[in-house]
Amino acid sequence: MSLTHDAALSPSAGRRFRAYTAKHLDELTARAGLSDNERLAIRAVATVLPFRVNSYVIDELIDWSAAPDDPIYRLTFPQADMLPQSDVARMADLLRQGASRSEINRAANEVRARLNPHPAGQMELNVPSSAGADPLEGMQHKYPETVLFFPKQGQTCHAYCTYCFRWAQFVGEPDLKFASGEVDHLVAYLRRHPEVTSVLFTGGDPMIMGEGVLSRYVEPLLEIETLESIRIGTKALAYWPQRFVTDPDADETLRLFERVVASGKNLAFMAHFSHPAEMRSDLVHEAVRRIRDTGAVIRTQAPLIRTINDSAATWAEMWRTHVRSGMVPYYMFVERDTGPQDYFAVPLARAYEIFRDAYAGVSGLARTVRGPSMSATPGKVCVDGVTEVAGEKVFVLHLIQARDPDLVGRPFFAKYDEKAVWLFDLEPALGATHFPYEAAPPEDPSGLVAGSANL
Ligand SMILES: *Cc1c(COP(=O)(O)O)cnc(C)c1O
Repeated sequence: MSLTHDAALSPSAGRRFRAYTAKHLDELTARAGLSDNERLAIRAVATVLPFRVNSYVIDELIDWSAAPDDPIYRLTFPQADMLPQSDVARMADLLRQGASRSEINRAANEVRARLNPHPAGQMELNVPSSAGADPLEGMQHKYPETVLFFPKQGQTCHAYCTYCFRWAQFVGEPDLKFASGEVDHLVAYLRRHPEVTSVLFTGGDPMIMGEGVLSRYVEPLLEIETLESIRIGTKALAYWPQRFVTDPDADETLRLFERVVASGKNLAFMAHFSHPAEMRSDLVHEAVRRIRDTGAVIRTQAPLIRTINDSAATWAEMWRTHVRSGMVPYYMFVERDTGPQDYFAVPLARAYEIFRDAYAGVSGLARTVRGPSMSATPGKVCVDGVTEVAGEKVFVLHLIQARDPDLVGRPFFAKYDEKAVWLFDLEPALGATHFPYEAAPPEDPSGLVAGSANL
């Protein structure tokens, strides 16, 4: 790797963005050396779950000699066993019979409905509008200081991750979408809510928007004094670093970032990186350098995913490379309770071990990272460890973020369960009848239970 990352970038550096979708899947899986039957099963999965890659992912990130085991291949390509076998067989039959699009879609929708398309009450958390009638579409205000905003034009990504918890919005079913084109409402909302210090643009990937559209969302926020930071949640550094280097609006985009910084706000670039292989091209290093030159801070985060990044060595290498490039490790997430979760889930006990082993092996500069963290209905729940209290083996947990700020940062306990993969698999420990974020059960109207807070 060159030290300057300036000259001779990757061969696809100057090429225009080109997406590959389900119609290219057969050709691409043939390149991975899969048989006819395996390829049909993968196409069957792709009738249900979204698929999209691009020339950079294909040419620069995937090691085709290692496919289908290559982690970036697994990160982006559907796998035959991601859905129950009966569903795959049914969809494969429809494909084999040359069923109509609407027939395929009807069957696919039935499968999707069983995959918890909207985890953690995502649809219910819309903010009520000032009129008190319709919810403000495309906005989520769950924690007092931060508002999530989903720009209407940012509802796709440069490529899709197979494990994405927002998969439902990419499958082209209008009633599963979640979006907003209403920056005026966002501005009005922020003026009424000075406690909101951070707006997080998310999607999809906001960096799919060109500079012209993105600036129409971002510029009006620069006038809001109470706002301290603007965050952009994006996978573009991993999937299309050209966005910041050689795309026609790359320079204009960086000027926009500079204007945010000049306005006295933090521009926090929340970069989704899933695997160290995403840091191997010269192009991504050049993109990181250019973004950091604007004064923006890049923080990195990803979920822990079985068969893609479920080892401590992988995470330690990833955090090391990030710190080396001046990025700040932020969150390790637990895979959410949606889509093919059974396929990707890492048990909480194992997730904690991976986190701890990786954390123990990196310098303090990388220990800005927190996790493993579950973004669940009550808030972000962090698994701090496994220990024994009064002879009982327990998980120690705390809320990093909570709808009720009073619950933040207070340790609580759950019975140790080697197989638990999500919050709802856990049970209160040490005689407690409920978790701190739950109402006391009716048998105990006084609320004076032996809760973890009393220990
Ligand atoms: C994670 C998250 C945020 C931001 O939380 P931080 O801990 O500040 O990064 C805001 N809203 C929702 C709904 C989230 O899940």
